[in-house]
Amino acid sequence: MGRALTAEQFEAYARRQINTALDILDHHHDDLFGLCACGRPRPCSVVATCQAAIAHYRAKLALVGATQPMRTVMRQQSSTVHRAERFGLPAIGT
Ligand SMILES: [Zn+2]
Repeated sequence: MGRALTAEQFEAYARRQINTALDILDHHHDDLFGLCACGRPRPCSVVATCQAAIAHYRAKLALVGATQPMRTVMRQQSSTVHRAERFGLPAIGT
């Protein structure tokens, strides 16, 4: 049986798990026709799994009193324009 993690080791582990889940979520966003970008119907099971993992590790970090990692939020174009550019379609309603 392995040794228990120290609080610092657990914090680093939990932060990696959260950041990994956030990175995975970047590839699972709304796409055309109501599908996830991965091609699965929404709600995508990968999104649900990642969100559950993030909630789990954030709750554990709160128990050990660690500051929780925050995601850098970048301003995005409206999804209509973004989709139109990606698929070479004319933008509608912009
Ligand atoms: Zn997906």
